[in-house]
Amino acid sequence: MTRGSALIDKLGDRLSALRGRLTPDAGMDKITWFRAGGEADVLFQPQDEEDLAAFLKAVPEEIPITIVGIGSNLLVRDGGIRGFVVRLSAKGFGNAEVISPTRIRAGAAIPDKRLAAVALEAGIGGFHFYHGIPGGLGGALRMNAGANGVETRERVVEVHALDRRGEQHVFSNADMGYSYRSSNIPQGLIFTSAVLEGYAEDRMAIRTAMDAVQHHRETVQPIREKTGGSTFKNPEGTSAWKEVDKAGCRGLMIGGAQMSPMHCNFMINTGTATGHDLEYLGETVRARVLENSGIKLEWEIKRLGDFKPGHEIDPFLGQLL
Ligand SMILES: Cc1cc2nc3c(=O)[nH]c(=O)nc-3n(C[C@H](O)[C@H](O)[C@H](O)COP(=O)(O)OP(=O)(O)OC[C@H]3O[C@@H](n4cnc5c(N)ncnc54)[C@H](O)[C@@H]3O)c2cc1C
Repeated sequence: MTRGSALIDKLGDRLSALRGRLTPDAGMDKITWFRAGGEADVLFQPQDEEDLAAFLKAVPEEIPITIVGIGSNLLVRDGGIRGFVVRLSAKGFGNAEVISPTRIRAGAAIPDKRLAAVALEAGIGGFHFYHGIPGGLGGALRMNAGANGVETRERVVEVHALDRRGEQHVFSNADMGYSYRSSNIPQGLIFTSAVLEGYAEDRMAIRTAMDAVQHHRETVQPIREKTGGSTFKNPEGTSAWKEVDKAGCRGLMIGGAQMSPMHCNFMINTGTATGHDLEYLGETVRARVLENSGIKLEWEIKRLGDFKPGHEIDPFLGQLL
């Protein structure tokens, strides 16, 4: 029996009332933008918030639950993810509603691009940057996703979430504890929806800003590749890509993983990269940058799951290179 089937079997009746889809041994390479990584023991896609709450109540606390969004910022290791991976369905969590002249309430599974389109239609400014971010709102709320000089934290009014026990919480903008590409809300919480606020703006101006976002991306980022976006956060006073470039890592390849020759803070899967190739490349780059400029690059991409036995990677392994 596979690991996933055994887990579903073990929980038996506890899961039988759920309406969402349970997929044992789900390949995370089918979910992540990198198209790499091992299997989740079980993938659960809840139908709606009630179904998600029932699931959280049903699964004993010692069994790990990991929430993922659209997978545009994730590197999954080849040993896979133990326990359950939850991915919100677009049907139950992908709606958006304009609730005032400047406010939108949206489900956490709505793609950022769709959110930008809803704001455009309603004449609400300040959402154009989402037009270029390929993730979903849940990931944006967690990552404080930003681009073109705007960040998610500038739009957030309140965030609705369920905790590991299925209890509801509402967090204010201040509660989210935002900083550059992060929030200090504990990892176990699952965001289900948010109220966001922009400002009244002429539709033509919004459209122009969205087109500029798209044009910029097409020219400077390898957006059609299998990638996770920016690999490292920008350090104080410099850009990650400049440091990667100065350390001679533009185009550097390990196995099927490469630092994009087009934008060297983007790591790409050239076709055959494993999770190991990608992480080993990232750690090698960190080590070379440390050696070259004394800067410790911090991963922006979230790494999840277990190493495949024998493929463990020490941070800064490349210090030895
Ligand atoms: C080509 C490309 C360009 C990109 N450009 C940008 C950019 O300009 N700016 C930028 O900020 N990012 C960028 N990214 C990275 C990525 O798109 C963002 O970080 C995005 O917000 C991630 O959303 P996601 O739904 O894909 O989340 P995932 O990658 O699936 O997950 C990211 C994190 O969010 C958490 N998470 C996801 N959903 C929820 C939820 N419902 N509740 C709680 N936690 C959740 C996950 O646990 C994980 O920790 C880019 C990526 C790519 C591939």
